[in-house]
Amino acid sequence: MKSQDYIALDEKFGAHNYHPLPVVITWAEGCTVRDPEGKTYYDFLSAYSAVNQGHRHPKILQAVRDQLELCTLTSRAFHNDKMGPFLKKLCEFTGYEMALPMNTGTEAVETALKAARRWGVEVKGVENGKQEIICVDDNFHGRTIAVISMSSDPDSTVNYGPYVPGFKRVPYGDARAIAAAITPTTVAVIVEPIQGEAGVVTPPEGYLRAIRETCTKNQVLFICDEIQTGFCRTGKRFAWQHEGARPDIMCLGKALGGGIMPISAIVADHGVMDVFTPGTHGSTFGGNPLASAVGIAALEVLEDEKLEDNAERLGRIFREEVGAIACPKMKLVRGKGLLNAVVFEKGFEAWDVCLALRDAGLLAKQTHGNIIRFAPPLVITEKELREAIAIIRSVFVKIA
Ligand SMILES: *Cc1c(COP(=O)(O)O)cnc(C)c1O
Repeated sequence: MKSQDYIALDEKFGAHNYHPLPVVITWAEGCTVRDPEGKTYYDFLSAYSAVNQGHRHPKILQAVRDQLELCTLTSRAFHNDKMGPFLKKLCEFTGYEMALPMNTGTEAVETALKAARRWGVEVKGVENGKQEIICVDDNFHGRTIAVISMSSDPDSTVNYGPYVPGFKRVPYGDARAIAAAITPTTVAVIVEPIQGEAGVVTPPEGYLRAIRETCTKNQVLFICDEIQTGFCRTGKRFAWQHEGARPDIMCLGKALGGGIMPISAIVADHGVMDVFTPGTHGSTFGGNPLASAVGIAALEVLEDEKLEDNAERLGRIFREEVGAIACPKMKLVRGKGLLNAVVFEKGFEAWDVCLALRDAGLLAKQTHGNIIRFAPPLVITEKELREAIAIIRSVFVKIA
């Protein structure tokens, strides 16, 4: 079958809840992918940063093979011999005391919201049902009913009511707005340290630090959604580290699964995590031995290959080189590490640019009409990056 045939099947039998770039991927390795016709592309989306370690990293593949020969699923009704070592590794990697494993990113966010609400009652002394959580405009935390109840995006929310109460939304990037929104029943503030889906929106310097201080002062939990920004993507292991603003709860996902399978978690210290007792939260697949084996290998690759250093160094080259392209419609290049976006002038439709990039051999997707995110796997080499930049340049200089 040809690309067109696969696309036709998706269109006919799949719900139309996505609008993908018309390209079909049948094979992938490192930072490149290939279509049925044999054309190779640089992957500059990395499955929304779920493939930080590169496609089919040999070490992670080996961990999968080894574990397939042993045991893949036990549920949490029994212990298995992989989850404990995985959670220990995750706690060491993140610097937290405990972890709670789930599957998708959205579930990690749900888990953080539940932890915060329960902590609010049991530790802070808020009456159950009165807990309030502060979130911000243009957030993306996932797709469940509770999580979209925080969203300001009409596409994500329209006609899905009734929404879950208990959220208060303030503008992003304004720490004083958060301080002003806090009341005695506020239990948590949740933000992305950089808003990926909103178009790689980086808050003003000091924002996270100010939230940290406000939360500490008011006995409110600071929740960082690091699902897209975490695991070396922004040039640090976690994006909050750029400001030393350690959150009380981190939501993790995407690259924790090493590009193989959905693995998510929250990490926190005892003071928060101990609110969970047997039966109060769970997941059939969370912490399964196959996922745990993958998670360990995924973390080891990030560590062994010092991917945060690569992201930091190559990110600087990317912003400098792409920012220097002669393209009057391009307004700015922003981001940290290898999470970057090109912002075109207001009203510009970047879809055609993404198609032209595809034709030239590079896959990227716009986040809003006029913004394209560029986020290659972190294993990309400088040579590959410079080749990719040459492709981007060849397309951008032709934009009229
Ligand atoms: C992708 C993402 C999520 C949701 O993760 P899923 O695995 O798609 O459920 C949540 N928060 C952020 C910041 C994300 O980028």
